[in-house]
Amino acid sequence: MSTQQGSCNCGAVKFTLDQALTGATACHCTQCRKQSGHFFASANLPKQAVQLTGEESLTWYQSSEKVRRGFCSKCGSWLFWEPVFRDWTSVALGSLNDKTDLRLERHIFVAHKGDYYEIGDGLPQNEN
Ligand SMILES: [Zn+2]
Repeated sequence: MSTQQGSCNCGAVKFTLDQALTGATACHCTQCRKQSGHFFASANLPKQAVQLTGEESLTWYQSSEKVRRGFCSKCGSWLFWEPVFRDWTSVALGSLNDKTDLRLERHIFVAHKGDYYEIGDGLPQNEN
């Protein structure tokens, strides 16, 4: 069984992932750029495979009817992107403590990316 651990920057919110993350993706949409300050790299697993500690410091921002974004209310670290009506969640790859053994698979919403960088890693790019 795969186990990964991660946390926010201040450590108030910690989590253990009981299943492997899949589908590592970089999202360049406007909301992810604003929320992260750049673009958002994350990967997915079932919600029930996330064991949280310090949940009282985790604040959810409902960014649309179908999506909420979880961040630490003490340090501001953005940790989760979560479709409200699905059974999986997306975890910020930068929040993981150790080697991830993951590789980004694709870029999405590149039509909305910032103009101050280029994507040059050769991975597939979806316009939206
Ligand atoms: Zn924190």
